[in-house]
Amino acid sequence: MKYDVVIIGAGPGGIFAAYELVKEDKGLKVAVFEAGNELSKRKCPIDGNKIKSCIGCKTCSIMSGFGGAGAFSDGKYNITNDFGGTLYQYIGEKQALDLMHYVDQINMQFGGEGTKMYSTAGTKFKKLCLQHELKLLDASVRHLGTDKNYTVLENLYNFLKDRVDFFFNTHVDHIRKTENGYEVEANGQVYSCDKCIISVGRSGSKWMERICKEMKIPTTSNRVDIGVRVELPAVIFSHLTDELYESKIVYQTKQFEDRVRTFCMNPYGEVVNENTNGIITVNGHSYESADKHTDNTNFALLVAKHFSEPFKDSNGYGESIARLSNMLGGGVIVQRFGDLIRGRRSNHDRMANCTTRPTLKATPGDLSLVLPKRILDGIIEMIYALDKIAPGTANDDTLLYGVEVKFYNMEVKLDENLQTKHEGLYIIGDGSGVTHSLSHASASGVYVARQIL
Ligand SMILES: Cc1cc2nc3c(=O)[nH]c(=O)nc-3n(C[C@H](O)[C@H](O)[C@H](O)COP(=O)(O)OP(=O)(O)OC[C@H]3O[C@@H](n4cnc5c(N)ncnc54)[C@H](O)[C@@H]3O)c2cc1C
Repeated sequence: MKYDVVIIGAGPGGIFAAYELVKEDKGLKVAVFEAGNELSKRKCPIDGNKIKSCIGCKTCSIMSGFGGAGAFSDGKYNITNDFGGTLYQYIGEKQALDLMHYVDQINMQFGGEGTKMYSTAGTKFKKLCLQHELKLLDASVRHLGTDKNYTVLENLYNFLKDRVDFFFNTHVDHIRKTENGYEVEANGQVYSCDKCIISVGRSGSKWMERICKEMKIPTTSNRVDIGVRVELPAVIFSHLTDELYESKIVYQTKQFEDRVRTFCMNPYGEVVNENTNGIITVNGHSYESADKHTDNTNFALLVAKHFSEPFKDSNGYGESIARLSNMLGGGVIVQRFGDLIRGRRSNHDRMANCTTRPTLKATPGDLSLVLPKRILDGIIEMIYALDKIAPGTANDDTLLYGVEVKFYNMEVKLDENLQTKHEGLYIIGDGSGVTHSLSHASASGVYVARQIL
């Protein structure tokens, strides 16, 4: 079987690459190989009753399948070069932003219409943050919400399915360079193509490492972000979230001069489990539709940890910390802020008296037994700093869930076309280490499709 272009991975990177290719050149033969299921069949078996924890499915329906890792996410498309990846370093700031706006237009066309775009431009909160040693980063954010995000993906799939050959439940095992292109091997079958786009995201990080080794593509890796998810009554942050939806705020700690940042803010949202390679960490999302809103807002507070020689396995370090919380709590641990600063664990009685009602069933415990002191001290300092712009943040009943880990793929050496040293082999999205977000991953897909066209 011979294709003009083979795309590996049907996350936002792969989807937008396919979309751009077939929209612009109707004669092009394109195949997409995806380890997970098609969208309608993506279902995590954890129902909270019969199945309470991860049973290690062959492919994780939360992370894999059409729509990729973001399919059940909050669908926040941040249009900015300030965070979410370093695509602009390869393709220039203007082009990166233009492509993110283009992706936004497509999302609107495919069912996202009517959703709100928030912006930090001209906001009074910049000054308020600076007055309290906090920095608010610039961004526009489109909040599709978990519900609309799914609709957009459904519509994109309906558009693509007659124009592209999709192979679901088909994990690509090998890639080989041939005289005129590439061969990919999946389920024992070999498919050839002129150009190959790899877009395997975070779930494909270990596979990506192997392929880079086999094909002698240089990589670097040294970062992991570790922290907690904060949950508090939505009214405490509503002045910020009503105007900005998500505020990315950075704080430099006094004690160690480490940078702590807010990440993935979900007004009126839910805290959820996330399963990465069998390790349970925490995340959050929220719905567009008001009838699915909760009374709480959640966001992560993360500290970036960079390692220097000889240590190389930054993700392994993050996994070990997450494993420790799983060992103590059987999954995610929750602790009241008041208990943390008093040096005691949260238990069922203290949680029962807590005025903030948790949206995730987690084990009450002690995060100081899990997180390294330096990271925990930074988080506590930042909670007090946030309390100045959002009084009530440092309340005893603010909930902290741990741990939240943001794993980074190793960064693959690519040229300005996002092409590897092998001509016609491109790596995009989070799997390349260049992007860490829906908008950057999608934009990288459009960009490479245009290079190929
Ligand atoms: C719970 C959650 C919430 C999130 N919320 C947001 C948010 O609101 N905003 C935001 O910007 N980002 C968010 N993110 C991050 C965002 O989802 C990712 O940045 C984005 O999905 C990256 O897109 P991608 O196409 O590079 O990779 P992915 O979306 O990870 O897709 C890669 C796909 O490749 C497949 N694959 C892997 N290896 C192979 C192989 N060998 N063969 C075949 N297929 C393979 C996988 O099954 C997967 O479907 C969230 C992530 C999670 C987990």
